[in-house]
Amino acid sequence: METTMWAVDKNVDNLKTYPQIKEAAQNLKKNEVIAFPTETVYGLGGNAKSDEAVLKIFEAKGRPGDNPLIIHISDRKQIQSFVKAIPEKAILLMDAFWPGPLTIILENKSGVLSEKATAGLSTVGVRMPDHPVALALIEASGLPLAAPSANLSGKPSPTTAAHVAEDLTGRIAGIVDGGATGVGLESTVVDCTVEIPVILRPGGVTKEQLEEVVGEVSVDPALKDSDQTPKSPGMKYRHYAPNAPFYLVKGTKEQIQQMVNEKRNGRLKVGVMTTKENKNFYDADVVIATGEREKLETVAESLYDTLRAFNQENLDIIFGEVFPEQGVGQAIMNRLTKASGLPIIEK
Ligand code: AMP
Ligand code: MG
Repeated sequence: METTMWAVDKNVDNLKTYPQIKEAAQNLKKNEVIAFPTETVYGLGGNAKSDEAVLKIFEAKGRPGDNPLIIHISDRKQIQSFVKAIPEKAILLMDAFWPGPLTIILENKSGVLSEKATAGLSTVGVRMPDHPVALALIEASGLPLAAPSANLSGKPSPTTAAHVAEDLTGRIAGIVDGGATGVGLESTVVDCTVEIPVILRPGGVTKEQLEEVVGEVSVDPALKDSDQTPKSPGMKYRHYAPNAPFYLVKGTKEQIQQMVNEKRNGRLKVGVMTTKENKNFYDADVVIATGEREKLETVAESLYDTLRAFNQENLDIIFGEVFPEQGVGQAIMNRLTKASGLPIIEK
């Protein structure tokens, strides 16, 4: 399949009338799948009401069928047709964070959305992305779009159109290139079908920010305890994995350097993932700084880019620093431990 690249400037007015967006939207109406930028990462969108379109998404990504997709909308009115009710706390969260990186789980009205999009669950995750290109494309298509991240399943999520092209050229009808994405981490997923909302996946909106709006919020205990089954089916899969074994180390930079030295003495090619502050400290085969430790948003923004960059390097082993699990640090550590899939080394 030929994959068309549509370049658009996200700053122009009336994007939805632009020929590139119209052409991409036409493809969506024909149940083709299209990658597009959001404020979190690039999404791979398809008509959420069509089994045909949703199957194409799963096929292009190689995604397991039991992992439901988030439904993207451009107007709150779209939700009424496919959810049973919108609880008060969900409305407060929409008022506060939409458009934005927050996915809200609601009761699914059966028979409207493709059951393949919701993986047959009685609930559905919905969000309104805060990106002019995403909003214009959804509006121009007139459809709710089922959209997971636009990467091959298991790979780091794409934050540029080039990342998408790397994974999905020849597998999808097109890519709308609207430049690099902003937050760099996927949305926070919060279950609002229960009295006290539960975070099923940490992300761009923090627990602290949610609590300011709706009071107490809890976190799915399975996120910390690998013996429990996560309520968000996607959280049980290893994600974002670099090609080489990737160890997170809770220790000082001196301790990490010593581990690097030991491995290099054993003739291994070693990478270190650090931040700007410590970049010049380490002596290893490859040292990559992902943002600044003092500004965790910058770490979130460049995390996936860094994980992809390590894959260009043919390393035998990678060591990574850990981050405090506060604010967006929770989402960062969640993604890093998923990328690693190994126990954290405690020094
Ligand atoms: P992705 O599309 O790759 O960003 O992943 C979407 C995430 O949202 C996955 O972890 C899904 O399991 C989760 N998700 C989507 N819909 C639901 C739902 N109805 N209930 C729980 N988790 C959901
Ligand atoms: Mg993903």
